[in-house]
Amino acid sequence: MDHFALNDGELFAEDVPLAAIAREVGTPVYVYSRATLTRHARVFREALAELPSVHIAFAVKSNPNVAVLRLLANEGYGADVVSEGEMNRALAGGIPAADIVFSGVGKTRRELTAAVKAGIGQFNLESEEEGVELAEIAASLGLRAPCALRVNPDVDARTHAKISTGKADNKFGVPYDRAAGIYARLSALAGLDMKGLAVHIGSQISDLEPSRLAFIKMGELMEAIRAEGLSVTHMDLGGGLGVPYKASDSLPTPQEYGAMVVSVAKDWGVTLMFEPGRVISGNSGVLVTEVVRVKEGVVNPFVVVDAAMNDLARPAMYDAWHDFAAVKPNGRTMTANIVGPICESSDTFAMGREIDEVASGDLAIFRTAGAYGATMANTYNSRALVPEVMVDGGKWAVVAARIEPETILSAETVPDWLA
Ligand SMILES: *Cc1c(COP(=O)(O)O)cnc(C)c1O
Repeated sequence: MDHFALNDGELFAEDVPLAAIAREVGTPVYVYSRATLTRHARVFREALAELPSVHIAFAVKSNPNVAVLRLLANEGYGADVVSEGEMNRALAGGIPAADIVFSGVGKTRRELTAAVKAGIGQFNLESEEEGVELAEIAASLGLRAPCALRVNPDVDARTHAKISTGKADNKFGVPYDRAAGIYARLSALAGLDMKGLAVHIGSQISDLEPSRLAFIKMGELMEAIRAEGLSVTHMDLGGGLGVPYKASDSLPTPQEYGAMVVSVAKDWGVTLMFEPGRVISGNSGVLVTEVVRVKEGVVNPFVVVDAAMNDLARPAMYDAWHDFAAVKPNGRTMTANIVGPICESSDTFAMGREIDEVASGDLAIFRTAGAYGATMANTYNSRALVPEVMVDGGKWAVVAARIEPETILSAETVPDWLA
C-alpha cells in the first residue's frame, strides 16, 4: 500500500499534488511519501513480533537519502551499510553506531579502521582474509571488533541473476562447508568478537522457499559451531524480500515472511537480525517525469520522457518493470514505447505497453521507484543529478537538491600542458 493516488482526477503524494512539486522543483524528480515509509517500517517490524529478540537494519544502499535515514532512525531502525560513505550517512541520519552493520566483500583497510573507530555494531565478514585484517586493525587500537561471518549457503534465490547472491559461484560470503572452520579460527583472534553468522541470498525475492532452505542450513551450521564450544548469539538473515512492481505481481507479504522465519528460527536462542531495503523503500517513492514529445514509430509511438536511465537505472540494468501513469489521466489509453533521451537503446522503460494516453508537456510517474532509484543515479550524457523530495501530509521539502551539470563541469580541469 502506498500514498500516491488519484484525487479529483490528478495524482497526489499524500495531500500534495505532484504537479505542484514538478512546477517548483522541475522534472525529473523523485518524490517520497513519509506516511508510506513509516507504514512499511512498522508493518515489517510487526511481522517479526513473535520473535524474542530482533534487530532491524535498513539496507542503506536501497535509499541512502539522509532524510529517509532520519525517518527510519526515528522508527528505531539500524542500518546495513556497504561503504564508509554509507556509514557516514547512517550516522548523519542519527542512527547510532552500535545499530550499524557493515557488509560488503571489499571493505578497505581505511574503511575497516574508520568503522572500528566509529564503534560499528557488527562487521559482516565476507572472508577469512578480511577477518584477519580486521583483527589486526582492532587489536592495534586496543579494541575488539564485533563480527558475524557471512556464509554463502549455495541456494538459488530464483531472482534476477544480477541480484542473486547466495549461489556457490557468487562472490559473497565464505563457502558453507568451510564456514565452521573459519569461524573457529577467527574466534581465536584477540581483535575479534565473533557473535554469529550472516546470510543474504539475493534481492527482489518472490518465493520464500529458497530463503527457508537457506535459513535451515544456517541453523544447522549454528548448531555445529556451538557443538564445538563456540558461542553464537546473533544470526543475521539479511534482506531481499521483494515488492510488487505491477498490479498482477503476487509477492509474499511481510507477514508471510515473518511466519516463515518464526517457523525456522524461533528457538535459536539468538538475536535475529534483518537487513530489509526494497520492502521498506520501494513503494515509498515515485519518479515524476515530463513527456518531452511523442514520436511516431514503426509499430508503436515512442513516448520520450525527460527521465532517463541515468535517473532510474533498473529497467536498463535488470530489465525491470515500473508502472507508468499520467499525473492527470484523460481516461484514454495508448500502446507505446517509453524511452528517455539518452543515446543508448537501453534507455528504454517499456516497449509496446498499454499506458495512459499522454502528449508533449504532460506529467507522468514511474511507480515503485523508492528503492534502487535515486541511489543509482548518475550524470551520464552530462545530465543533472536528479533531485529528491519528501512529502508529509500537506507539506513537502526538497531532501536532495538537483546537482547541475555546470557544478560537475566545475570540478574538472584542463592541465596547463593542454592549454
Ligand atoms: C542489498 C542488500 C540488502 C538489501 O536487499 P533488499 O533486496 O533491498 O532488501 C541486505 N543485505 C545485504 C548484505 C545486501 O547486499
